[in-house]
Amino acid sequence: MTDVFGDLVGQDEAVDTLRRAAASAAALLRAAAPVTVRAGGPAGGYDDLDALAEELDGADADPDPAPSAEADPGAGMTHAWIFTGPPGSGRSVAARAFAAALQCVHGTGCGSCPGCHTTLTGTHADVRLVVPDGLSIGVGEMRALVLRAASTPSGGRWQVVIIEDADRLTEAAGNALLKAIEEPPPRTVFLLCAPSTHPDDISVTIRSRCRVVPLRQPPPAAVAEVLVRRDGVAPDVAEWAAAAAQGHVGRARRLARDPEARQRRDAVLAVPRRLTGVGAAFDAASALIEAAEAEAAASVVEIDEAERSALQTALGAGGTGRGAAGAMRGAAGQLKDLEKRQKSRATRAQRDALDRALVDLAGFYRDALTMALRAPVAPVHTDTAALAGAGAQKWDAEGALRRLEAVLECRAAIEANVKPRIAVEAMMLALWRG
Ligand SMILES: [Zn+2]
Repeated sequence: MTDVFGDLVGQDEAVDTLRRAAASAAALLRAAAPVTVRAGGPAGGYDDLDALAEELDGADADPDPAPSAEADPGAGMTHAWIFTGPPGSGRSVAARAFAAALQCVHGTGCGSCPGCHTTLTGTHADVRLVVPDGLSIGVGEMRALVLRAASTPSGGRWQVVIIEDADRLTEAAGNALLKAIEEPPPRTVFLLCAPSTHPDDISVTIRSRCRVVPLRQPPPAAVAEVLVRRDGVAPDVAEWAAAAAQGHVGRARRLARDPEARQRRDAVLAVPRRLTGVGAAFDAASALIEAAEAEAAASVVEIDEAERSALQTALGAGGTGRGAAGAMRGAAGQLKDLEKRQKSRATRAQRDALDRALVDLAGFYRDALTMALRAPVAPVHTDTAALAGAGAQKWDAEGALRRLEAVLECRAAIEANVKPRIAVEAMMLALWRG
């Protein structure tokens, strides 16, 4: 079987960096073990580990056969990383793979040992994953996380904290994280994922403490290859899905395998044809918003229910006797908190669903634009290429560009907290008027 980096499509450079860092981290652990015994205390902080790393680079006394990459001083391990790249490029896949390599008993990310396996399935005791369900990650959550992350790794290797969408940290949460990164607990590694290192996404001070691993938008051919190899998708379907997903691996996989995802995409790509008047534009806006709401609701309903029943069980719903009244008062507050979190997650899911639709729509107008310009590039949506071609003739390059910009402006407006319905209605009117 392939190792933990096998899912990182078209990211050779990043994979190379991570492999070397994992080897270096494994060497640090091997070197630290005897020293810990000598010192008779817990493993030291990073100063110790850094010193050990230097020692190690100079000496060949290490009894284990070490990969040659360890000798490269630039390949060393560090305690804070940022994975950047466009959506779907595999930021969180890269972070998880690296976490697995750090926990791998062979120190390589073999993909089959218990350390690799439990990390990838999300059950490793020393790997914490923060996936924000709401619009932002709050300070309470971050403080609790930082505190737990400071404990000694139970598996004897590393405590790994993965923060997906680190760009959604609130300022206070960012500060709590910064403190931990500035004074790293021994053996704790922070892996942040963000679209870019722009100050809007990640604070300059956090950025300055982290090593950045930039990921590229993988080429469609590489995405198609992984769909065929890993998911058993037929080559022609894989090629179509990879192009339609515009380099987004997870999206391509869904399009190739989930008929509902395909139907939703078809409905979105039918929009340009339906815009025949003002009324039709408003209808199309409603349809798009409602489809996003339905998709989001379907995606959170199961987890919402599971959480509610888990909380009710934990609170001992239906309990009687002394203290039960007080417990119920506390329970009401906890249920309220849960509802608030779930509402915030639902909002996020709606926006994500709407954004996916807008990206598909932008792809259509991009196709029309490239055709009007007779640019020698493959269309994003091969199945609506004829329609985009007709649009190109009717609108010319300028008209296609104006429409593409209308879609991109709508995305930006929603990102800037304009009410989705208002932004989408404005976009549909702009698309109709041209
Ligand atoms: Zn392993």
